[in-house]
Amino acid sequence: MSNPVLVFIDHDRGAVGDDTRQAFAFARACLPDAAVAAVVIGGDTTPAVTGADTIWHVRHAELDDYAPEAWGDALHQLAAEVTPSAIVTTGTERGNEVLAHVAAIADEPFAANVVAATPGAPWQIRRARWGGSLLEDATLTAVLPILSCALHAYPSDPSTTSTTSTTSNPNVAEFVPVLQPDAGRTRIVDRVQVAEGITLTTAPVVVSGGRGVGSEEGFAAIEALAELLGGAVGCSRVVTNQGWRPHADQVGQTGKRVAPDLYIACGISGAIQHWVGMQAAKQILAINLDRDAPMVTKADYAVIGDLHEVIPAIVDEIRRRRAAT
Ligand SMILES: Cc1cc2nc3c(=O)[nH]c(=O)nc-3n(C[C@H](O)[C@H](O)[C@H](O)COP(=O)(O)OP(=O)(O)OC[C@H]3O[C@@H](n4cnc5c(N)ncnc54)[C@H](O)[C@@H]3O)c2cc1C
Repeated sequence: MSNPVLVFIDHDRGAVGDDTRQAFAFARACLPDAAVAAVVIGGDTTPAVTGADTIWHVRHAELDDYAPEAWGDALHQLAAEVTPSAIVTTGTERGNEVLAHVAAIADEPFAANVVAATPGAPWQIRRARWGGSLLEDATLTAVLPILSCALHAYPSDPSTTSTTSTTSNPNVAEFVPVLQPDAGRTRIVDRVQVAEGITLTTAPVVVSGGRGVGSEEGFAAIEALAELLGGAVGCSRVVTNQGWRPHADQVGQTGKRVAPDLYIACGISGAIQHWVGMQAAKQILAINLDRDAPMVTKADYAVIGDLHEVIPAIVDEIRRRRAAT
């Protein structure tokens, strides 16, 4: 049996998601002969991760809450001791962030968002790029291969489960790294409960504005329409670059991924970097001056016209009909 493969467990104070099971599936698909060693960093209790041959619980006062540099440093130190055949995880934001730190410290390449991998010298890998709109075939030459799999690329391994239970596991080994005082320059220092209600990623309707909206004030009509439909406001990157809306509202490759029942794209051309963030919408309505804009040609419905006239007209009509009932 080759050296174990280390599987970094992305958890938030012990809470783990389904991505953990995808990481196990990825590890077993890549290196079926290797033992699987899960790595849980931080916390007083070890999340019970069944299906791993070993669980490494990495503990240190500096590691209690998420601190990407410190977690990466600690994982790198563990790898130096274990000499794994690879380090893998699922390409969640934290998974990619921590493994990027490990790779930087180890001076090794990092292959993120892999959808297929064959080990060797070099590894042959295929990975998702540009938000999944491009598949890249590449080789990975590394003493210590470090990879994350794209979310949902590897179906969850049914033989593994992960819970926040504190059930003792006979295969838990503890590792205490030596951390520099500045190892955790980036860390969580406070948690603020955001107001409950409709959020961009859970809203059934998203009314989104692009450059065509023209100004910060122009979003008043979009907000009114979103409110009437019980939805949330989104926007394109041009809009956040202009400072008309906060980055939290941005949809797309470098913003949020949304999958509402209805996505209303107002004055948005439909560039691929925006499209990948909302292509999962069940229905798309485009409001645009340009009938040849990609958003219009790909939408289920389109209104060709000036959004400054079309949106108020829709708002007025909804209000009129509701007042009549
Ligand atoms: C690495 C990278 C990452 C990126 N990430 C993102 C991302 O996450 N999200 C994102 O959105 N973009 C992203 N972009 C930018 C992306 O390439 C586009 O530049 C951007 O999406 C265009 O925004 P837009 O559609 O608002 O503007 P434009 O492309 O300028 O389109 C404006 C549209 O409005 C229409 N219009 C103008 N006036 C009116 C009017 N009065 N009424 C109706 N329609 C009107 C026009 O016909 C046009 O179709 C990224 C780019 C790069 C390189």
